[in-house]
Amino acid sequence: MVYLIIIYLLLAMVVAYLGENRNVGSTKAFVFSLLLTPIIGIVVVANSSKKITYSEFQYHCPRCGYNFTEELEFCPYCSKNGKEIKLIKQEITTT
Ligand SMILES: [Zn+2]
Repeated sequence: MVYLIIIYLLLAMVVAYLGENRNVGSTKAFVFSLLLTPIIGIVVVANSSKKITYSEFQYHCPRCGYNFTEELEFCPYCSKNGKEIKLIKQEITTT
């Protein structure tokens, strides 16, 4: 009996792990598995769409506040005004 509970919990944890990269999330996947058996949990995870995350770099000018997507050393707008403002590299993560 104890083994069954351990297997049950392990399966729920596997489902939670699989749900991590899905929109449902690992916590929800784990709760579903625990309350409605891991079989239901895996169905929920399988039907949940994949989370797509990607990050990109932006170059932020501290003077004019403009963000550039292309890699530039100095802000082209501020350069026009004769000011060499170094752009700050920022990583933007979007889902
Ligand atoms: Zn600028």
